[in-house]
Amino acid sequence: MKYIFGNWKMYLDLGESVILANELAEEVFTDDKMEIAIFPTALAFSNVATIFSGTSVAVGPQDVAWQPKGAYTGGVSPLMYKDLGARYALVGHSERRHVFGETDEEVRKKVEACLDTGLIPVVCIGETKQEKDEGKREYRLKKQLMKVFENLNLNGGKIMVAYEPVWAIGTGDACNPLDADDIHGWIKLELKNYHDIEVPILYGGSVKPDNVIDYLRLETVDGVLVGNASTKTETFVPLIRAVEKIK
Ligand code: PEP
Repeated sequence: MKYIFGNWKMYLDLGESVILANELAEEVFTDDKMEIAIFPTALAFSNVATIFSGTSVAVGPQDVAWQPKGAYTGGVSPLMYKDLGARYALVGHSERRHVFGETDEEVRKKVEACLDTGLIPVVCIGETKQEKDEGKREYRLKKQLMKVFENLNLNGGKIMVAYEPVWAIGTGDACNPLDADDIHGWIKLELKNYHDIEVPILYGGSVKPDNVIDYLRLETVDGVLVGNASTKTETFVPLIRAVEKIK
């Protein structure tokens, strides 16, 4: 199974999200070895989930609160998203960590809340340019993985990891596929310290229609998390069509 996940970030308002969702819902994606999921804004979630209901496209939020319900101004819980049809949730996206100051501890609580609710958390990890240049990439990733996976009770649920180097997100400076292959292999080994189950690992960071195959051809790369290129039909549909051709 190859996963193609589109993170619309805060690029689209409600009207634009509805237009794009309708355009994508009209496309027929037939490959049963591919799972497509869209992560719209909280604002557009309900509308987009309704448009994709009954299609093969799954939906999930870009972030969740860790409490189910209550006096948590601005929060939306996994339970509330599940109720609207969410299957996945992004957790700990680099923009949440670096722009909004989310900590590893908060990421852990959000992952647990998703698992408790039956959503599949997609745990985003990645190193900064400075950490990479200083040879601290594995150290940073190890720490992020440990905070989430150590003594984590999966309760029979599923979990995924997205390796998204911070320096590759939205920069056009995509990680060299051979380098991604190495680091994905390292992450897979690292995860064996915690769980026996197979954890799909997605690559994210400047994935486009013309480089997506370079990643998805690799056995270590189970899917891609796509930001900018997922926010336009002209780029997201060709990207998916390119993946359909891999056999
Ligand atoms: C992302 O938002 O997760 C991402 C990878 O963005 P982009 O594809 O725009 O680099």
